[in-house]
Amino acid sequence: MNCDNSRVYLPAYLDDELGVAESLLVQKHLFRCEDCRRTLDQQQALRTALRDPDLAARPSADFSKRLQAAVRQAAKEEARSQRPSWLETMRFGSFRWIPAAIALVLTVALGWLFVISRMRTSQDQLIARAVLADHIRSLQANHLVDVPSSDRHTVKPWFQGKLDFSPPVPDLSELGWTLIGGRLDYLDGRPVAALIYKRRMHNINVFLWPNHGPADDAIRQEDAQGYQILHWNGAETTYWVVSDLNSAELLQLGRALRGH
Ligand SMILES: [Zn+2]
Repeated sequence: MNCDNSRVYLPAYLDDELGVAESLLVQKHLFRCEDCRRTLDQQQALRTALRDPDLAARPSADFSKRLQAAVRQAAKEEARSQRPSWLETMRFGSFRWIPAAIALVLTVALGWLFVISRMRTSQDQLIARAVLADHIRSLQANHLVDVPSSDRHTVKPWFQGKLDFSPPVPDLSELGWTLIGGRLDYLDGRPVAALIYKRRMHNINVFLWPNHGPADDAIRQEDAQGYQILHWNGAETTYWVVSDLNSAELLQLGRALRGH
């Protein structure tokens, strides 16, 4: 079996839908082909990510409450407008639809806000999973650094020509964070810079790429399968930091990278 065949069979292989003979052929190929193993890993990671119940959009209690309040308010307005004297009815009757229209506009606007914030969160959750998968892969595949160096003047220029931006590579050795190199990685549908720092025996992957969205440099912290993930959007750069280091120390690194 060659790679082309193997790629065709992989989804069915993952779903356990192949016969014994085909299954064995795929296994044999996977055993000696690292590329296809990586593809299998990626498909598996994607599948796991998509199964996450958090991805299902459920309105928050707050959103339902606001919606109900808007509808109640509209109903009240309408009831009021149905009680005026015949004169008022003649004057204003034709504008009775206004409260209902306002309620409708409000509902649509609230719904949109909700959908957008939800999309942002789901997107972040997908990235967080990819960040963790990349971190684990970089440790397992023994491919932690493309450019092994503790010198930022070696690491920073190495990215030149490989990325469409120049990543900041701070020297944090005085704070106890040893730079051990850089790596080219792929996240959120684009090539990104990965900086690798070390503290004691812990490797830390710092993924960064240009932030084109709004800046929000409050550091968000997530605990995932024994790993810590930090994320914030600086004015120019989006950061994702991941390690098995304890959360308090990792937060120190986050603040040092953020610069305050
Ligand atoms: Zn292959």
